Amino acid sequence: MNAPLIIIGSGFAAYQLVKTLRRKGSDMPIQLFTADNGDEYNKPDLSHVFTKQQGADDLVSMTGKMFAARHQIELYANTRVDEINAQARCIKVNGTSYPYARLVIATGAKTFVPKLSGNAVSEVLTLNSLQEYRSAQQRIADSQHILIMGGGLIGTELAMDLAASGKKIRILDPGAHLMTALMPDFVATALEKQLRSDGVQIECLDYVTAIDRNENNLVVTSHKGMRCEADCVISAAGLVPNTGLAKQAGIEVNRGIVVDQQLKTSIEDIYAIGDCAEIEGKVMSFLQPILLSANTLASTLLSDNAALNIPAMMVKVKTPSYPIQLGGHYDPESSWQVDISEHGVIAKAYDHRQRMTGFVVTQNNLNQAFPLFRELQTVSG
Ligand SMILES: Cc1cc2nc3c(=O)[nH]c(=O)nc-3n(C[C@H](O)[C@H](O)[C@H](O)COP(=O)(O)OP(=O)(O)OC[C@H]3O[C@@H](n4cnc5c(N)ncnc54)[C@H](O)[C@@H]3O)c2cc1C
Repeated sequence: MNAPLIIIGSGFAAYQLVKTLRRKGSDMPIQLFTADNGDEYNKPDLSHVFTKQQGADDLVSMTGKMFAARHQIELYANTRVDEINAQARCIKVNGTSYPYARLVIATGAKTFVPKLSGNAVSEVLTLNSLQEYRSAQQRIADSQHILIMGGGLIGTELAMDLAASGKKIRILDPGAHLMTALMPDFVATALEKQLRSDGVQIECLDYVTAIDRNENNLVVTSHKGMRCEADCVISAAGLVPNTGLAKQAGIEVNRGIVVDQQLKTSIEDIYAIGDCAEIEGKVMSFLQPILLSANTLASTLLSDNAALNIPAMMVKVKTPSYPIQLGGHYDPESSWQVDISEHGVIAKAYDHRQRMTGFVVTQNNLNQAFPLFRELQTVSG
């Protein structure tokens, strides 16, 4: 048999690539190695499992075995790849070599857990995968007081979901307001007001420095000297791309695994896609760029000419008691045209040439998101 295409990972990026290759009619042999059990699930659903009272198994849309049979791939589940040997064109698993014709790295990212002191640091929970949720779900269900480190998109969505399911939540974030990377302060302030009225305590400009265990509880200490008790602590302090295998193989790595517009890494016949990849200097941990990347990479692997082009993106913030939709981009230099009414906010961001670059809409104005998105595409197109 000719050496197959080997894919490392079974997240959205890996499975989207497999689906796209098969949809395009390719019957190339594919071996897929994954550290988890290979079950297919929609990761964004982790943002509302608590209000929906869903366990990890409820999120599985297809078992790994079924996915493998349907898409004619050879699945190596619960199999962590230890090494890539680019000279010998093989990967290594538990001392066994598997040769590849081409190799795709789709290893995702892990949650950043800040350096902390204290005797209970190992108890910090993370929720960046179905497995992590599976191992944390009982502990979270048994907890009443939960502290979340990080008020970015994921931390904020989790806070609202957990609060709506009856938990007492406290978020600590070093930024001046929630979601500093995504949201202007005037929207964040309104969202924070809603979260506070849902019972969430929000401490900005502060962060956790130590976690200790006393007889019954965790005792959390912050940089500003705040001390509070919690039944569990969840880190949502950002993502770090899983680049270890690539680094060790000598592939160029910056924040993520550096790829070009064909998703090629710096080493011939090795590609990277998803949360582990860096495209044009950016790691984009969202489904839409991964979907577009999977299309381009499938074309690259089938020797069609394609180059990745990532247009303006829309992000729906899953905070149901204060729904928000964002589009395009903005930065501290942007000027804003803001309309605030009882229906919510409509805000448009402009660059120094007065060109619209992004927008934010909230609550009853969500129906304005698509018209604004089209306007944005016209301006940038
Ligand atoms: C709570 C939450 C909510 C989100 N909401 C949204 C949203 O609303 N909209 C949106 O666009 N995006 C959202 N995202 C982001 C989106 O889900 C991710 O960008 C996407 O799922 C990443 O897919 P991936 O395949 O790159 O990585 P992953 O899903 O992390 O998959 C990585 C795979 O690699 C495997 N792996 C890693 N190392 C090895 C190894 N050495 N050997 C073998 N296998 C290995 C893992 O087991 C896993 O199967 C959300 C994320 C979270 C956590």
